[in-house]
Formats: sequence, structure tokens, C-alpha cells
Amino acid sequence: MRLRRIPGTREKILEYTPWLVTEPTAWQGRWQSYIAGRLGCESPSPVEIHLELGTGRGRFINEMARECPDRFWIGAELREEVLLDALELAKTWEAPNLAFLWINVEQTVDIFGDGEVDGLYLNFSDPWPKERHAKRRLTHQRFLDRYRRYLKTGGLIRFKTDNEELFRFSLEEMAAKGFALEQVTFDLHKDPALASMELSARVMTEYECRFSRQGMPIYRCEARLLP
Ligand code: SAM
Repeated sequence: MRLRRIPGTREKILEYTPWLVTEPTAWQGRWQSYIAGRLGCESPSPVEIHLELGTGRGRFINEMARECPDRFWIGAELREEVLLDALELAKTWEAPNLAFLWINVEQTVDIFGDGEVDGLYLNFSDPWPKERHAKRRLTHQRFLDRYRRYLKTGGLIRFKTDNEELFRFSLEEMAAKGFALEQVTFDLHKDPALASMELSARVMTEYECRFSRQGMPIYRCEARLLP
């Protein structure tokens, strides 16, 4: 993927401590220590870690962190110009339970240890519609193999998209890799079950706001990692 570099953005991003984790591989297998440092105390029990891959401008993860203060939230994003907005948003409310990684999702296997992550979120991942680019889709089996290394057994991948082809592809990939599919919906905002779904189904991302305003259906599923 070719990245557009905006002069000065890199320097700006590096100023966002503590929200930007500058050396995330150093915390592999030790994220509970990182969290204890951020929260300023050792928690008597481990804090759940929830990770959004391709977090964009951070609307979703900031809201989730605010609504679920007993969990620790981490957003991973490749493009610095959108990450900057996510960091700025976290700073405005001095988010205690939120951190960001400026990385490619490919790197996450070197950042999280076995079973270290409780929940994963893939929101409006790039569809890569051409068949020859299928391996770049974040729900391709190649990525699912990575996620299962650091997702806790029984943990969920929550996936939302506006793209029906990507959704159908993802359902097949997840099933083929032995994830149990739950809460599958082809029109989330018109689904009567929405009110009783977990909060993350109702918290909207930037893309979701845009597409649902245009009346487009939003596809969503949960995929549980079985033993
Ligand atoms: N999740 C946000 C939302 O729903 O509004 C943004 C969706 S946007 C279509 C996809 C985001 O994923 C972009 O910000 C892109 O830079 C990021 N992304 C795509 N591939 C990535 C990768 N391999 N590693 C990290 N971020 C990635």
C-alpha cells in the first residue's frame, strides 16, 4: 500500500505520549504491566484488552473506551494522517484506558503474546475487491491465523462492513478457520436484535456514520475462537 506522507505529521504523532506506544514490541506478553503503568496501579485481576485493527480517525475506539472504562482499548492504524485525529481525540478527554499503535496489522503477531488479547474489532476494513489482492483483506485466512495466536480462546472478532462481497468472503474465511459465527446480520441498523446486542454493535465508526446516512445496509458478525 502506497502511503501519502504529509510533512511534519510524523513529528506531531510522536508528541502524543502517553497515547502513542512508540515501541510496542517491547510489551509483547507484558501488556498488563504497560496497563498498570498507564493506570498508575496494579489491578488485582488482569484488565481485558480490546484491540481495533485499522482504527482510522478513532471515533469508535474513543467512544468504547469512554463507555467501558474497566477495559483497556488499543487502536492500530497504518496511516499517520488519520491516526493523528484519533490521538487528538484521546487527548481531549485525557483517556486513561486507551493507547494507539502506529503499525501495519501484519506486525501484531510480534506485539501481542499468546492469548493476550480478549477481543478484536475490524470495522470497515479495506475491501481489496480484486481477486489478486485477496490476501490483503484483513479477514483473509492469512490474517485469521495471526489473530488466533494472540486472541484468547473463546474471544470474539467483531466485524462490520458496508461491503457485501467482503462480508460473504469473511464469513467463509472465518468458518473455514474454525471460528464459530454468531450474531450474523445483513442489515444491522434495521435488525430488531440490535437493541439487545452488545454495545460495540451500536457504537458507530466514521465510515458507518457516512454509509448509514446514505441508507446503505451495514453487515456485521461476531466470530468466536473455539478451543
Ligand atoms: N475503522 C474506521 C471506520 O470504520 O471508520 C476506518 C475504516 S477505513 C476504510 C480502513 C482503515 O484501516 C484505514 O484508516 C486504513 O489506513 C487502515 N488499514 C488498512 N490496512 C491496514 C493495515 N494493514 N494495518 C493498519 N491499518 C490498516
